[in-house]
Amino acid sequence: MRFNRRQFVIAAGAAAAPMAFAQKNALEEHIVERVETGKANYRWPRFVGKNARKDFHGQDKRAGYCRIITTQGAVGWAESLPWIAEKFKDQIIGKKVSELIAPGVGCSPGVSEHYDLALHDLMGVILNKPVYQLLGAMGTKETSIYSGMIYFDELNEGGSLGQLLANCEWDFDYGYRALKVKIGRSGKWYPHAEGLAMDIKVVRSIHEQFKGRDVTILVDSNDQYSPDDAKAFLKGIDGIPLYWFEEPFRETVADGRVFRKWMNENGFKDTRYADGEYDADDDVLLELGRSGDLDVYLPDIRGYGGLTRWVNVMPKLADMGVEASPHTWGSKLKTHYVAHLAAGVGNVDIIEGVTCLSDDIDFGDYPIENGKIRVSDAPGFGMKLLT
Ligand SMILES: [Mg+2]
Repeated sequence: MRFNRRQFVIAAGAAAAPMAFAQKNALEEHIVERVETGKANYRWPRFVGKNARKDFHGQDKRAGYCRIITTQGAVGWAESLPWIAEKFKDQIIGKKVSELIAPGVGCSPGVSEHYDLALHDLMGVILNKPVYQLLGAMGTKETSIYSGMIYFDELNEGGSLGQLLANCEWDFDYGYRALKVKIGRSGKWYPHAEGLAMDIKVVRSIHEQFKGRDVTILVDSNDQYSPDDAKAFLKGIDGIPLYWFEEPFRETVADGRVFRKWMNENGFKDTRYADGEYDADDDVLLELGRSGDLDVYLPDIRGYGGLTRWVNVMPKLADMGVEASPHTWGSKLKTHYVAHLAAGVGNVDIIEGVTCLSDDIDFGDYPIENGKIRVSDAPGFGMKLLT
C-alpha cells in the first residue's frame, strides 16, 4: 500500500491523539531497572549454501539479543548486538520508559539505536498493544512474503539442481508463493560464462517447475554482476516475469538509470529495481528514487537504525514512489519486525521471509498462508525468549 506524505500525517495524527495521554502515564510508571544481553540458538530448516559474495552459510545460528526489564517487572526484548547493548546501558537504566520512547514517534534522541526494537517491544508490552498499532496501523495486517533461502544449492555437498528445486518445493509447501533466487554465479564461484549460463538455467528450471502454480520469482545477484551481465541474464530468461532484480551491480546513478531504461524497453517494465542492502550509498539510491529509477529500498530493518529511523524515512520514500522492503536475512525475528512496520506504516509490498526453528525463541503467531504473512496481535512483537 502506498501513501503520500499528507495521508501519513493525517493517519498518524488520528491514530495517536485519543490514546496519547493514557499511554504516556503508563510509560511514565515504568522505570528501566536492568538490561540483559546474550545469544539465542536457532536453526534454518536446511543447510544454506553460497551466494554470489559469501561462502557456505551453514544451518545452526545464534541471534544476539538485549532484554530490558523495568522495576515494575515488564520485559521487552529484541535482536541486538549484545556488546553494544552492554556498552550503552547507562543511557537507559534508571530512566522512565516515557523518556525513552513514545508511540508513533519512536526512540528519543540520544537513545542508542541498538535498543530501538527492544524498546518498541517493551512499550507494546506495557501498553498491551501490538507494535504495529503503536506505529499507527496504517498498513495491512497481511503482507506478501517471499522465501529468501534459495542459494547456490547445487554447490552444497551432495547438491544438485534437483536439490535446489526440491528446496523450492519445500518453501512452497511451507506457504511461500514467492521465491528469491540467488544468482551472480559468474562473479566468484564459476568461470564467468558458465556461471551466467547456470543462473539462467536455474531460473528457467524454477519457472518451469512451478508453471500453473502462481509462483513469483525474484532474483538477487549481490552486486556481483556487471551492468552487461545483468542485461545478458535478463536476455537469457526472456519471457519469464520477474518481480524484482535485487542488487544487480554495485549501484551508481548512471548505471542505475541506464539499467532501468533498458529493462523498460526490453520486456521487464514491471520488474522492480531493488537496492540498498549492502554498504548502501544513500546519496545514489535516493537520487535514483527521486528520478523514478529505483523502485524498492532495502537497508536492514535493524542495521538501518530500527523502527524509529524506518518510520521517519517512510513518508519520504512514499513521496518518491519508492517502496521499502527492509533486509531481514538471517533471522525470522527480523521478518516479524518488518511485518509490524508493514502493518504499522504501509509502503511495504513484500517482506523477506527467513524460515527458522528454535528451542530458545518462541517466534509468536505470524502464520504464513498462500504467500502472505499475518502480523501478530499479541502485545509488543509477541515473541518470547525462552532462554
Ligand atoms: Mg540481498
